[in-house]
Amino acid sequence: MRFNEVLKNVKNYEAGKPIELVMREFGIKESEIIKLGSNENPYGTPPKAIKAIKANANKAYMYPDESMIELREALSERFNVRAENIILGAGSDQVIEFAVHSKANPNNAVLMAKTTFAMYEIYSKQTATKILKTPSHEHKTEEFLDIYKKNKDIEIIFLCLPNNPLGECLDKKEVYNFLEEIDENVLVILDGAYQEYASYKDSNKKIEPKDLIEKFPNTLYLGTFSKAYGLGGMRVGYGIANEEIIKNLKKLQPPFNVTSLSILAAHAALLDEKFVLKSIKNNFEEMIRYEIFAKEKGIKYIESYTNFITYLFSSKNSSEIAKTLLRRGIIIRDLSSYGLNAIRITIGTPKQNERFFEEFEKIL
Ligand SMILES: *Cc1c(COP(=O)(O)O)cnc(C)c1O
Repeated sequence: MRFNEVLKNVKNYEAGKPIELVMREFGIKESEIIKLGSNENPYGTPPKAIKAIKANANKAYMYPDESMIELREALSERFNVRAENIILGAGSDQVIEFAVHSKANPNNAVLMAKTTFAMYEIYSKQTATKILKTPSHEHKTEEFLDIYKKNKDIEIIFLCLPNNPLGECLDKKEVYNFLEEIDENVLVILDGAYQEYASYKDSNKKIEPKDLIEKFPNTLYLGTFSKAYGLGGMRVGYGIANEEIIKNLKKLQPPFNVTSLSILAAHAALLDEKFVLKSIKNNFEEMIRYEIFAKEKGIKYIESYTNFITYLFSSKNSSEIAKTLLRRGIIIRDLSSYGLNAIRITIGTPKQNERFFEEFEKIL
């Protein structure tokens, strides 16, 4: 059968391995599997969200309110922007999809860091646009600028703040200085999937969407309920931008793209500040253990502003390490597909981390 030519170049997203797969393949009991591969909140679903989902299960037969105004208003209050400045997606992933399809085409280009969130490239390839990447794995604004100045056809620039899968994060000041140099017709997407973590650890990293879109009307800020808010399975994310951008993204939005229970769960999670704050605090307390462990074992790591840490290896092979851990029921993320001999480990609960160190020590 014939398909669009462009699909030849589109790769499927390599998702973190699910618990079910490890049960099937290695015959390990669910209770003995530790999933530190997808950057979910290890403390689970926020209690207030569980309550909201249970209380509203009987409404699942109805379509959601198409405007999703309740959640948009809650977010508008949280970020002090207007509801007209907000679009919701089935994960912030979907907002990335809208943004890419709103501008990218075979005659222009997009720019991103060499090693960053894989979906930027996948959505871009669907449009057959040209994909430009910085030479360094991590975000370096001077490299972005250099490429930007040499390529007048760039329509979209991606900044992942902090960056998945490496964990590094540019300071707000550096981001703003960079944005000063960018033409107002170029859309700059600031992916804040881990902003809650970064701004807790270091206030210099904090990006305020209101301030951002007022100063730079060509920016789109992205947030998600999948990480700190503990709702990866509910698929809710959002974009914040000026009204012109939101209006155009909405033209690509399918009807009812976020489910009614997801909207309610996200709203409840947004109000469960105690849960979120505790998750973030625990995350950085536990991260110290990963840093100490790495130093003791002579493993290089990247200072992380997220809920994961990336270990870099020189002699050991990251794929082998990931496979061995998997056979013992521990799911982490091998980064060899990014051209790195490295693994990304989601920071788990104290007990999960203990188990990781125990098993990992045996491999070393
Ligand atoms: C997890 C993640 C997202 C979005 O996840 P959704 O579940 O689709 O909201 C976006 N960007 C980065 C960098 C991420 O790590």
